[in-house]
This record gives sequence, C-alpha cells and structure tokens, in this order.
Amino acid sequence: MSKKVVKFGGSSLADANQFRKVADIIHADEARCYVVPSAPGKRYSDDIKVTDMLYTCYDAVQNGEDFEKSFAGIKERFEGIISDLGLTLDLSEEFEKIGVNFKAAAGREYAASRGEYLNGIILAKFLGFDFIDAAKAIFFTNKGNFDDDITNACLGAMLDKTEKAVIPGFYGAMPDGTIKTFSRGGSDFTGSVVAKAAQADMYENWTDVSGMLVADPRIVENPAGISIITYSELRELSYMGASVLHEDAVFPVRSAGIPINIKNTNAPEDAGTLIVPSEKNPAAEHVITGIAGKKDFSVISIEKDRMNSHKGFLRRLLQVLENHGIFPEHMPTGIDTVSVIVNSHELEGQREKLTQRLKDVIKPDHFEIVDGLALIAVVGRGMRSVKGTATRVFAALSHANINIRMIDQGSSELNIIVGIESADFEKAIKVIYNMFMLSE
Ligand code: ASP
Repeated sequence: MSKKVVKFGGSSLADANQFRKVADIIHADEARCYVVPSAPGKRYSDDIKVTDMLYTCYDAVQNGEDFEKSFAGIKERFEGIISDLGLTLDLSEEFEKIGVNFKAAAGREYAASRGEYLNGIILAKFLGFDFIDAAKAIFFTNKGNFDDDITNACLGAMLDKTEKAVIPGFYGAMPDGTIKTFSRGGSDFTGSVVAKAAQADMYENWTDVSGMLVADPRIVENPAGISIITYSELRELSYMGASVLHEDAVFPVRSAGIPINIKNTNAPEDAGTLIVPSEKNPAAEHVITGIAGKKDFSVISIEKDRMNSHKGFLRRLLQVLENHGIFPEHMPTGIDTVSVIVNSHELEGQREKLTQRLKDVIKPDHFEIVDGLALIAVVGRGMRSVKGTATRVFAALSHANINIRMIDQGSSELNIIVGIESADFEKAIKVIYNMFMLSE
C-alpha cells in the first residue's frame, strides 16, 4: 500500500476547528499514515503562536519573574482544544512536569519543544493513532548536528512497528537525552526525516496557502500558482527569498527521491504545488517557473592591471573575505576587474578593516564598495536550451528603464540572476513577470 507522511503547520492546528479539518483530511486517504504536527499557531493575525508563548514563559522563569500568568495562557490554549474537541484527555501531569523542568532550567529548546509535544499527544488521541515522542526517535550528534544515520535506523524501526502514528515536529534529543530543536519552522524538516525513514511515496506538507506562487503576491497582483517544480528550482528560489518550506526540509526527501506536495488545509481540494526530483524532468508549463529576489547586497569592486597574470590573486582575495566571515554570493570577473557581491549586513562593523586588509593583500589599482544592490533570480527548467530567455529578461528591464549592474547565469541553465538598484526591485519583478507570464 502506498504510504504518505503528512505534516501540518501551526495555522492548520491552531484550534479545535482546524483539528477537525486535519482529521477529515487524514481519514480521507488511508495512505496518510504518519502525521507530523507543529505547535498551535495563530488563530487570527495578532494572536501569539504557542512556541513564542513558551519562549516568553521560560525566559520569565529564568529571570525569576512571575510566570504563572503566561503558563496559564499556554495551558488554556491546549485545554481549550481538548474540551472543544470533546476529548477525555488530562494533561495536568504533563503541565506539572513542564513547570518543574522550567524551574530546573531544562533549557529554552526544551521549553519550545513542548508545543509540538503536547499538540502531538492531543492529535494522536483525536485520530486514534499511536504517539511517538520525537525525543526517542530523532537524534542529534554531540556537536548538535542532526544525526541522519542513527535517526533513520531508529525511527525506521519504530515506524515498522506501527501502521498509524503521530510524531511531533521541531525537536529531537542529544546523545545525553537533552531536548534540542531545529531552527524555527523546523517541523517541515521533521516531516521530511519521517518521510525518508518511512520510505514514503509522498511527503504532504499542509499549510494555509494552496502551494507556491510564481512571484511574491505583495509585488505582483494575483500571480499564477506553480503546479510542479523540481527540487533544484525550489532551492534556487528559496535561497533568493521565496519562503514556502524550511530551508533544510528538501534534503532528506530529496536524497530518497520522495516528492513533496504543498497543500492547503483550508482548501484541500486544491492541487497545490508538487515538488519532484530534478531527474524526473517534468514538462515545463512556462519558460520560467518562478521569480524571487532580495535587497541589501553590496558590490566590492576591484580593478588591477593584468589581474589574470597575478597567480593566486583570486585565492588571496577570497581568503581575506573568508577570514572576515564574508560569503561571496556572486563573483563576475573581467580581464582586469572582479566584483564580489556580498550581503551588506556581513560588512557591518568591519568595512574599514576589510578595506584596509584587501588593499594590503591584493594591492588593487582601484577599490570601492557600493551598496544598494538587489538580486533577482529568474528560475525555470523550461529555459534550458530555449533561445532568447536572457534577451526577454533584459528587454523587459530595459523597456522599464532599469539598469542592470550584474548578470549571472548558472551553468545548468536553470536560472538567470540580475543585479539592479534596490529602488528598482519591485518594478523589475513586475516587468519580468509580465514578460513571461502574460505573453505566453
Ligand atoms: N513551532 C515551531 C516554530 O514556530 C516549529 C514549526 O512550527 O515548524 O518555529
């Protein structure tokens, strides 16, 4: 039988009504056998996520402040869900244990993880599924990195013993048993880890939008949705700011060749976005799959006569940047020039020192740092070996009177990246979108 791992985000489990939708979705398909919940999220726009309440409460305990009120607020969220669902479930012992552990300084990560832990217990009870505590199945190394091999073996063996289970997202355990969390939004990663360990046929990631959009809807009015995208395209777009999944969530399923389907809990009939291994090479609907971008980059511009004949020039340049903890995003070179594009915030507090060091080490003829660059990535498997894609990007920008300060095309012909003035950012995304999506 086919197996699906289903992960539900915080807004999908924010209250009893959402829990009911989730249960309907799970019961509608026998294959949906392993469930990964987040902690209850926001019920309305200025509501507070339970994870944030837990951080605040733990900090109050540690600062010796009165925390009873904030702890009561957390209990209320969970008890409200339990009573609205009509469940016979008493979490008072759990709350007591958590209170004791907070006082014993069990750690901020332990505190934050309790949102997923308690929500997992409630969801398992509501569905009639087994509950697997992630602390017994998801492991980190002594250095605090996710331990892929041990987790896969251990979790795989546990899943073999149960047909239907809930495994809370976001946390696992260190070798000494201490609770550790992934970075924020990390339940997406847990879902991917569970899908790999279960050798699932599909990882469904349920959220509150019907999949990914070709461009940011705050910039482009009513953009088209993306029905199918490859892992490589997704990586390019999410690196440039398109946020749909936790950054690391693609890796476990990608290595196992399992597709991800982003779905909407509030509109389950919508197909959503299907993310598939690149080797599947699905037919592209359009030349481009998506457009994303980010502001606040700086260009370190260097000129030096006969740069190419100075052996080790680029190595020395990169070494200085590395010593300052600066990561080059792009590095277009000419015969006697090189520009290094970096995140402006990485220069903070060390601009002068870095300038001096670069001048000492590589002795440029001309050197300057220019801020205010935005990068836009135009991504699409459909552009591979299609002639004229770059021309269309440049034509769209030039008609809009936007100056291009940098161009970079990935060697796999999956993306074209342009650097423009930050002030032109929104306009540039709109005209590129119109060029490809309204004229095809
Ligand atoms: N609850 C955690 C957070 O708010 C993890 C998650 O939802 O994925 O970041």
